[in-house]
Parts: sequence; C-alpha cells; structure tokens
Amino acid sequence: MRELKIADTKEESLDPQDWTELRALLHRAVDDSIEYLAKLRDQPCWQPIPDAIQKRFTGSIPRDGEGLAATYSDYQALVAPYAIGNAHPRFWGWVMGNGTPVGMLAALLEATTNCNAAGFQQAATFVEVQVLDWLKSIMGFPADASGVLVSGGSIANLTALNVARFARVPFEVRQEGTQGAPRLMVYASTETHNCVQKAVEIMGLGANSLAHVAVDAEYQIDVAALAARVAADKKAGKMPFCVVANAGTVNTGAIDPLDALADYCEREGLWLHVDGAFGAFAVLDPSSKNLLRGLERADSIAFDLHKWMYQPYDVGCVLIRSRDAHRAAFTLPTSYLTKLERGMAKAPIFFADYSPELSRSFRALKVWMNLKAYGLDKFARLIAQNIDQSRYLASEIERHPKLELLAPAPLNVVNFCYRAPHLERTTQNDLNSRILAEIQESGIGAPTSTVLNGRFAIRVANTNHRSRREDFDALVAATVKYGDELLVVRR
Ligand SMILES: *Cc1c(COP(=O)(O)O)cnc(C)c1O
Repeated sequence: MRELKIADTKEESLDPQDWTELRALLHRAVDDSIEYLAKLRDQPCWQPIPDAIQKRFTGSIPRDGEGLAATYSDYQALVAPYAIGNAHPRFWGWVMGNGTPVGMLAALLEATTNCNAAGFQQAATFVEVQVLDWLKSIMGFPADASGVLVSGGSIANLTALNVARFARVPFEVRQEGTQGAPRLMVYASTETHNCVQKAVEIMGLGANSLAHVAVDAEYQIDVAALAARVAADKKAGKMPFCVVANAGTVNTGAIDPLDALADYCEREGLWLHVDGAFGAFAVLDPSSKNLLRGLERADSIAFDLHKWMYQPYDVGCVLIRSRDAHRAAFTLPTSYLTKLERGMAKAPIFFADYSPELSRSFRALKVWMNLKAYGLDKFARLIAQNIDQSRYLASEIERHPKLELLAPAPLNVVNFCYRAPHLERTTQNDLNSRILAEIQESGIGAPTSTVLNGRFAIRVANTNHRSRREDFDALVAATVKYGDELLVVRR
C-alpha cells in the first residue's frame, strides 16, 4: 500500500501577513472615493472609452499576482473614469439610480463579513425580514404578506409570475409541467417592459402566452380591450391566469388604472401582478399617490430599490400577498437544508424557500442602513423633488418654441424632441438622434432615447437625488444649441 505523505508546507491564505499596507490602501481608497463624489458635478457625465484603454482589457490571467497597489492604480486609470455615469447629477438615462454615500459604507461592511443571506440563525436574516416589513408597509401590503429581496425587477417579475402560475392554474403544474394543458395566458399592455416576456419564455410557456394589450393616448392599458381579449381567449379554450399591470412604464412613466384592473381581476379570478419597478415608489409622494390607487390590492408587486430609492446595485424586491402561495412555489425539502430546533439552522425564515436562489448576497444591509440613516421621509422628499423637477422640465419644453413634448409626463419620465416641422419624419428623427449623441459625447448630461409613435424621443428618466433645476436648464439649452447647429450644417 502506498503511504500517504503529509506535505511539509507553510500554509497560505488570501490575507496579508502584515495588515499595514492593506490598511493604508483602504484609507486611501476611502479618500479617493469621497473625492470622486465631491467633484463629480464638475466632471463630464460620460465619456467614450478610448481604443487604447479598451485594449488594456485583453491580456491573459496573471499567474503571479501584480500586487494590490498596482491593481488599485489600474482600477483608477482604466475603470473609474469610464463609468456609464449614473452617479452623476445630470445622468437621466434608461432608469438608473445614483447610489448613496451610506451605500459605500454598507458595501464595505457587507464585503467584510461576507454573509451568505440564504437564511440561518444570523442577524442578516432579521435585517432582511425587517426591511421586507418596511417595504410592505410602504406599498400598503398586509404585515403577513410575503416577499424576498432579489437582484432586480427582472427577477422580481419572474418570481411573481412563477408563483401566480402555480397558484392560479387548476392542475399540478409543479409536478406535471404544462405539457398537454390548455395554453396558459398572461396579459400586459404593449408598453410593458420586455422582462415580462422573458419571464414567460423562461417559464416555458412560450412567447405566444403573453398577450400584448393596446394602450390609450396616455399609454395606459385599455381595460375594455383587455376584457375582450380574455373573453376571446377563453372561448378559444385558452387558460388566462394573470394580468401584469404597470405602475410606471419604462417609456413614459404611465400608470395603468390599477383600481379598475383589481376590480376586473377579482371578478375574473385572475392574478393581478404589478410591475412597479420604479413607479411604485411614487406612493411616497402625496401629490402622486392617488395615481397608484389599487396598488395595495395586487396579488404581487415587483419593484427595484436600485432605481427610485437610489440604492446601490443591485437590489429589487417582490412582494406576494399570499405567503402560502409564495412558499408553495419554491419550497423543496431536503436533508442538507433542514431547519433544526437549535443551533445555526434554527431560522425564522429560509429565503431559499421563497426564491430560486440559495446563496445570496446580504443586499438587505444597504437598504436597512440607508433607511435608518436618512429616514423614510428623506426619500419621500427626494421622490417628490424628482417629480417636481420633471414637471418643471416638461413645462420648460412646452414653453420653448423649438422644443416639443412627445408624451404626457405623469411622473418622472419626460420625452421630447427638437422641432423641425419642415423636415420629413425620418430626417427629424435622424436630427434628434444626432442631438442626443452630441449631448452625451459632450459630457453635459445623459438622457437616452426611445421611439414614440414612430418619433425619436430624447428621454429623461429622473431618479437622480443629485439633480438640481439648473441641470435641466442646461439640458434644454444644450438641446437647442445642438439642434440649431446641426440644422445650419444641413443647409
Ligand atoms: C428597469 C425595469 C425593469 C427591470 O428591472 P431590472 O432591475 O433592470 O432587472 C422592469 N420593469 C420596468 C418598468 C423597469 O423600469
């Protein structure tokens, strides 16, 4: 028999032998980070990444480490200057939050203890339970409702739709799948985010199981068209089970008539899910709360904290009214994850029973610290401020003879263009697309774009706690300036 030799080695770890250098570098990183935020307003919002820098991301894996100091200096040279810019006071692209200084601290602490927040008897579990309780109270959900923090709106919507399917379809989908069953149907307006279709596809229902229902001039779902489509589908032997309502569409911030949809779904026995990715937090603004009436009647709500609650990436949430339905969709007992009467496995909740994920980051920590440090009223004021600023921008656009507002702006999303009525539609669109590129590349600010009724829209989504009114004045001025210049070039 071969003898097992025990190697006589010095064991190593990833920790330094002497912490002095690391301590100094972390202190420097804190100073550099605060400097970065303090000077952000004077920096370009965004800049393209030069080819020479892009090439620096191509080498193979270093076999011998380059050391921390060299790695940090590469970060400062190659990474930090080339962010998409969403921390900046004049970033209004897609729908992105800024992050917060308290979030910087939370990220450091989260990385230090490196909690796996799957459940277990640990403070992280209690922190997340408390955060979920707070979020339920914000959304008007009952205290005994269920929920879980997830990476973002996409997974929150997927999680809710999966629960809806298991809860509302009257056969054993979890056991048998949907083979041989009638076609299951989900309904949502044409303005719905594409993550809902992704969810339907991931669930194996097929894209044709999502019915895209028409919207009206306000970009809100046409409830009569919805009812007609459901009735026709039932007649054709399909099985409707869920309506997805929007609380803040990504294009224009439109809010579907939630109360009317809740009435309709109640009558029809359909699950009402609300995608409130950013818009759900408008409940915190007294002047907008009424637009969301009925939100509290939904069976489930998906929303992001990394958008209109300004939290660092990533953190979203799904709330499910029925704890039983939520648990029934994801619980799968197994010996290696048994809860015990004593010790570490004695947990008030095991989040893996409520989500496809097992190992999870402690994303509740940053939310908990932010809400404790700033208080909910601070966030409510900032959301109201963003809505006021968006109203201000919309009114400045309407007042300006060279600009045109392209859609109603009920919340914090404003779509507009530079007017050039003497030009053909495609030329107008091309002009505005070039104006947008000039604005972005100049570093002045960062709106992005969408297309509304065939028209290219410069789109501002204001989930920015650093923006001031003067920033919107700068955007209006830049749009007019580049529009005028590009028109002259054309002549
Ligand atoms: C952003 C967004 C999503 C997707 O959320 P992620 O956090 O990006 O996954 C879904 N719906 C709406 C309305 C959104 O704005």
